[in-house]
Amino acid sequence: MDKFIPVAEPNLEGKELEYVTDCIKSGWISSSGKYIVDFEEKFSKYCAMKYGIATSNGTAALHLALTALGIKKGDEVLIPNLTFIATANTVAYTGAKPIFVEAEKKTWNIDAKKIEEKITSKTKAIIPVHLYGHPCDMDKIKDIAQKNNLYIIEDCAEAHGAEYKGKKIGSFSDISCFSFYGNKIITTGEGGMCLTNDKKLEEKMKVLRDHGMSKEKRYWHPIAGFNYRMTNLQAAVGVAQLERINELIEKRRKNAVLYDSLLKNVKGITLQPEEKYAKKVCWMYCVLIEKDFPVSRDQLMSILKENEIDSRPFFYPITVMPPYKSDEKFPVAEDISKKGINLPSSVNLKKEDIERITSVISHIK
Ligand SMILES: *Cc1c(COP(=O)(O)O)cnc(C)c1O
Repeated sequence: MDKFIPVAEPNLEGKELEYVTDCIKSGWISSSGKYIVDFEEKFSKYCAMKYGIATSNGTAALHLALTALGIKKGDEVLIPNLTFIATANTVAYTGAKPIFVEAEKKTWNIDAKKIEEKITSKTKAIIPVHLYGHPCDMDKIKDIAQKNNLYIIEDCAEAHGAEYKGKKIGSFSDISCFSFYGNKIITTGEGGMCLTNDKKLEEKMKVLRDHGMSKEKRYWHPIAGFNYRMTNLQAAVGVAQLERINELIEKRRKNAVLYDSLLKNVKGITLQPEEKYAKKVCWMYCVLIEKDFPVSRDQLMSILKENEIDSRPFFYPITVMPPYKSDEKFPVAEDISKKGINLPSSVNLKKEDIERITSVISHIK
């Protein structure tokens, strides 16, 4: 029996254990400690942003950002229909309404050309998501936001280190939000971070993150906040991961290049594109299974499973699921969603693993 290949797996071979041990030995295991400050400073610097606000997870980061920008009931926030559900849920948590925008065929991201038709007098913000590690067309999105006086919150949960026109994503918005969940580019187990260049927003997010407690007066709460703090234990893992982020991204890219070379001539498979303006990070290795492939996407997933190879379907468009069900048609998002598959994408993959996976796929008749 062949060895099981998981779809994702963290790589914790750096100083993760050493730094976590330091937390345990010193007793600093909760949400104060040197690793939190260190992680915030180093990660914000990595993205060329001034301030980092670490959070308990990426969903908390998005909710914190929306709340700090004053998004509330009666407001509308534009988001792509094709994304992970957290982007929509966090808008709903604030009482505002998520308004869904169609996907772009070539990048799978929000279609910048279809944003303006969704803007109303209630629209306050837009959340571009750099889906599956490919940057959105930020110049176009920034133009639209400026013209219509909208905030931009980048959802960078899947794209740490990706670049748009030579600049790191996460630096194109009022607040950008990252996730450090176990399968992301770098992980803290669970974790997240908001980045901003605005001192006032930084202060507001730090207060909101800590139950809305006044910085000057202990147990005085001028606003109702949340407990969205990251622990020193999580941050210790994050600091160690960040020390190796370039290596981790490079390894993923090498894996994707090998995958691409072995799949590019297989009939019925479309590879993930990379626009001229973009340097993607290969978060999940993605392909589309077209009609002229011998079996359907779901059949392919079963065949892979029989061969001890894990995979995932793409996200469903948000508007086909019960909480956000709508009769509006999003043919591009629906088509990409039906055809898309994530193949094993861990940095731990060996050349032989990728050869085994692609050989199963290319031998299907
Ligand atoms: C992972 C992810 C999130 C949420 O992050 P968590 O840390 O799991 O809460 C948000 N948006 C997108 C696009 C994601 O992929």
